[in-house]
Amino acid sequence: MVAAMIELLRPYRKRLALILLVLMAEMAFNAMVPLSLRFLIDDGLTPHNYKAMLQIIIALGVGVIVVSAAAFWRDRMFSATQSSVLADLRQLMFDHLQRLSIGSHARKEPGEVLSRFSNDLTSIETAMGMVIAWGVLPAAEAMISTLLLLLLDWRLALAAIVLWPWTILAPRSAARRAAVASADCKLSESRLLGKLSENLAAQPLVKAFNLQSLVIGQFRVANQAVAQSSGWSSYCASMMERFTSSGILFIQVSVLALSAWVAFQGGITVGTLVSFQGLLLMLSNSLLYLMQYAPTLVQARTAMARIQTLLGEPPGVTDLPEAGSLPAFQSAIELSQVDFSYTGERLNLAGISLAVERGQNIAFVGGSGSGKSTALALLLRFYDPARGAVLFDGQPLTSVTQQSLRAQVGVVFQDSFLLNMSVRENIHVGKPGASVGEIVQAAKAAEIHDAILAMPRQYDTVVGERGGKLSGGQRQRIAIARAIIKDPPILLLDEATSALDPATEALINQTLLRLSQGRTVISVTHRLSSVTGVDRIFVFSAGRMVESGPHQQLLTAGGVYARLWARQSGFSTDSDGARISITPERLRGFPVLSELEPELLEATSRLCLQSSVQPGDDVFRQGDPAKVFYIIVRGRFHVLRDDRVVATLEDGDCFGEVALVMDQPRNATVRALSPAVLLTLDRTHFQKLLRDSSQTQQRLLALVQQRNAI
Ligand code: ADP
Ligand code: MG
Repeated sequence: MVAAMIELLRPYRKRLALILLVLMAEMAFNAMVPLSLRFLIDDGLTPHNYKAMLQIIIALGVGVIVVSAAAFWRDRMFSATQSSVLADLRQLMFDHLQRLSIGSHARKEPGEVLSRFSNDLTSIETAMGMVIAWGVLPAAEAMISTLLLLLLDWRLALAAIVLWPWTILAPRSAARRAAVASADCKLSESRLLGKLSENLAAQPLVKAFNLQSLVIGQFRVANQAVAQSSGWSSYCASMMERFTSSGILFIQVSVLALSAWVAFQGGITVGTLVSFQGLLLMLSNSLLYLMQYAPTLVQARTAMARIQTLLGEPPGVTDLPEAGSLPAFQSAIELSQVDFSYTGERLNLAGISLAVERGQNIAFVGGSGSGKSTALALLLRFYDPARGAVLFDGQPLTSVTQQSLRAQVGVVFQDSFLLNMSVRENIHVGKPGASVGEIVQAAKAAEIHDAILAMPRQYDTVVGERGGKLSGGQRQRIAIARAIIKDPPILLLDEATSALDPATEALINQTLLRLSQGRTVISVTHRLSSVTGVDRIFVFSAGRMVESGPHQQLLTAGGVYARLWARQSGFSTDSDGARISITPERLRGFPVLSELEPELLEATSRLCLQSSVQPGDDVFRQGDPAKVFYIIVRGRFHVLRDDRVVATLEDGDCFGEVALVMDQPRNATVRALSPAVLLTLDRTHFQKLLRDSSQTQQRLLALVQQRNAI
């Protein structure tokens, strides 16, 4: 930690040397003041020598003026140096964070990094701000006064010098405890900051899910932990000081008694006695200062050690020293026998081999958690595979620079991050150096240009934190403009449109289709209808790639894809897209309805009503009376029992039948995670079905028994 500090101070060594020089002059003067008492008394006052007295006083007066002026200069220089050193350290930390891989970031506790920048830097700043007045000056003064004491009367001085070991040894035992307490305190502070930053980012969630009392409770616990640990930490710190100050007082009084006795015997003059006491006071004051400074120094040391750990963290994914630039993309992207695990415990991808040829449009599909996004992350080299290789034109990604890879790839995620800057700047980040013309061109291609012109400040409109002042569709279109302004040969889309409402989704999919021409495009999606036209579909299931081929071929094969497809199809939209209906055949696909006669299915499909829900909406809550049967046309839902997520439902799933049949209240809450469209069947209709079809009744009872058994 000392070495690290020296490294940081190195660029400022000339200025620091100058500051030290001025300091030494100040200290010499400070020591002269008590020493001058001896001359003032023995040469001026006692012999009534007016001239000598005046000389001494004038010399002291001039000294005060010069030293004060120098101190002003020194303060200014030091403050400037201090803030520069801190700025350097802050920059070093931020730069390092940019080098860390996505995985290293994901492993961090929330708030960990924030507290490095706030609490820890503040500790170092405080220690630095006090270092001259509370550290360097007192230390030097203590040494000088010890030296002068020895010169004045070495025997008395020896008695006084007991102060040194006392002040150094006495707080030892307390110091360890104080250091531990201070580290504990820092940890709980960083947890608190983590809670705070997470909470600020999650405000919509907190409001929508009525989590106020939950988060307030959590914050209270974390806050009390901070109060407790900081209380203990500052008590430990003051204990260190208390030990010393009481001891010093005792030694002071003893030495005073001793020297008074020696003076009484005529061993020393009154002037020497007074000077001696002055210097002794100076020594003990300096030592006290040092002791009071010690806890601050301990804290700064802990802080610096934590910052060192951050700075020493390996970046995770690194460029090899001999890594070259990835040449312009020519022929194919390949995953070859790739295994990958986030945590090292179980494989999140296992034995994935696939190839995408230049110019192809392909899709990764599969249920949620099947590994689609992970495969995409490997293509971007956010992570390196545990086994196997990711190859571009036969060249492993590990052998090229990350920068040259990412320069050739455009990405649009489901949740696009916009930075809190103007629309223009948000598109501009896609291609630093792009002209205004290019920005407008990209916006037109993403079909957002007209909407931008309608904004209050057009291209200068600031989008708000995370783009919060724009609609989801606008955000996504700007993200698309940002991705395509660099005209990447390879475009990756991770659920780029699945968080949008159906109408916007359809429009943006059309835009993407157009932009896909002449590029290699990999789209990740769980919604199959948007990828039927691609060249090849790779189907993921539980971290494996289980099937691949064009849409029609996969349907014929009758495997995982065909089953996914069957779940998501059977819904038809009328010409203006406003009304969605379900085919009788699709209804038969639900186990509860599989035994219904064709006429009844026909009638049932006409009775289904359409409804939409927004993210955070509860379709029903645990304990509600059961009134409706639901079919998910599109959207994702969580099933919660006693506030714990017990299942996720997606496009093509149905729910709510059991409570209806049993005439029981709902035994779980169903909550929307995305904008969703549902078809609903009313309780009266549903129960009429039961009366009309005895097989359905039996089927349902069997189903209910089966579920209860689970
Ligand atoms: P998909 O995109 O198909 O929905 P993902 O590729 O995101 O699925 O996730 C695949 C698996 O990896 C899931 O089981 C998920 O829980 C896990 N996973 C995803 N991201 C992480 C992460 N950062 N750390 C640990 N596990 C993760
Ligand atoms: Mg995903």
